[in-house]
Amino acid sequence: MAETFDLIVIGTGSGGSAPAYRCRAAGWRVAVVDELPYGGTCALRGCDPKKVLVGAADLADWHRRMQGRGVSGDAHISWPELMQFKRTFTDPVPVDREKAFQKAGIATYHGPARFVSPERLSVDGQVLEARHFVIAAGAKPRRLGVPGEEHLITSTAFLELDQLPPRIAFVGAGYISFEFAHVARRAGAQASIVGRRRPLQHFEQDLVTRLVDYTQSLGIELRLDADVTTIEQRGAGYRLRANTQGRTETVDAGLVVHGGGRVPNTEALDLGAANIGNPAGRGRAGERVPPERVEPARLCGG
Ligand SMILES: Cc1cc2nc3c(=O)[nH]c(=O)nc-3n(C[C@H](O)[C@H](O)[C@H](O)COP(=O)(O)OP(=O)(O)OC[C@H]3O[C@@H](n4cnc5c(N)ncnc54)[C@H](O)[C@@H]3O)c2cc1C
Repeated sequence: MAETFDLIVIGTGSGGSAPAYRCRAAGWRVAVVDELPYGGTCALRGCDPKKVLVGAADLADWHRRMQGRGVSGDAHISWPELMQFKRTFTDPVPVDREKAFQKAGIATYHGPARFVSPERLSVDGQVLEARHFVIAAGAKPRRLGVPGEEHLITSTAFLELDQLPPRIAFVGAGYISFEFAHVARRAGAQASIVGRRRPLQHFEQDLVTRLVDYTQSLGIELRLDADVTTIEQRGAGYRLRANTQGRTETVDAGLVVHGGGRVPNTEALDLGAANIGNPAGRGRAGERVPPERVEPARLCGG
C-alpha cells in the first residue's frame, strides 16, 4: 500500500518549504521529498554561502578604498578560513530543516522523486500517493553544448573550493559570474568573465554600466560579445576559446566556472507520467492537463 498524503512537495528549498508549512498548518497531511540534503539552493549552495563570501569581499574593498583616509595596513582574505566560516552557516542547515519539518508534523523523505502516475510518486523505489503535488525542484546549470564543457565547474563546486587558483575564468555574464569574479578578485585571483550577451541583461542598465566600469577598474577582465566555442585541458589548467565577431580569442585559467544560465531541474521527474506538459521539452506544454491544477499560492486556502 502506498503511503497517502494530501500534498507532497518535491524540493525542500524556499519554494517548497512555504506551501508545505502552510498546508500542514491548514490540517493537511503533508510530505516533503529531497534527493539532496534538506535546505535547497539558497541556504546551502546559493544566496547564503555566497553572501558570506561577498561580505568578506566587501570588507576588503572598503579597506582598500579607505587607505590613506584613516585606515592603514593589510586586509587579506584567507580563503580556507573564509570557507570554514561559511560552513558554520551551511553545515547545520540540513538537520535543522528536517527537524523543523518533523516538528510541524510534515513527513520527510530522502531520495530522487519520479512520477509513476498523476497521483503517485516513486521516491527511491518507495511509492507515495497524494491529491496534490508542488514541484519546487529548482534549477541546474544549462548545457552549453560546446566541446569540453565537462571541464566546467558549477557554482556549487566554486562555493566548496578549498583553494582559489591564481586565475579563474567565468563563462556567462550573469549575476553568478559577476558576484563570484568580484569575490575571487578581492581574494587575490585574476578573474575573466566571458559572455556572449549584454552583461546582467535582466538588471537595471544604468547600474549595470556603472558596475561594468567598476569591475574593469578592479582588473577583472570582461570579454563580451564572446561566444565560447571550446574548453580544453592544458596541463594543470584550461584554455577557453571564444568567437568574438569572427575572431577567435583565448583565455587561460586554472579553473573555468559555469555562470552561463540555469534551467528547470525537472528532467528526472518524468512529468509525462503525471500528464504534465514538460518544460524540459519532452512533452508539449498544455497538451495534457493534470487531473486538478491549483496555483501554489491558492493551495489549502492560502
Ligand atoms: C550561486 C547562486 C547564488 C544565488 N544568489 C541568490 C541571491 O543572492 N538572492 C536570491 O534571491 N537568489 C539567489 N539565487 C537563486 C536562489 O538560490 C533560487 O532562486 C532559490 O534557491 C530557488 O528555490 P527553490 O526552492 O525553487 O529551489 P531549490 O532551492 O533549488 O530547491 C530545489 C530542491 O529540489 C530538490 N530536487 C530536485 N529534483 C528532485 C527530484 N527529482 N527528487 C527529489 N528532490 C529533487 C533539489 O535537491 C533541491 O534541494 C542564487 C542561486 C545560485 C545558484
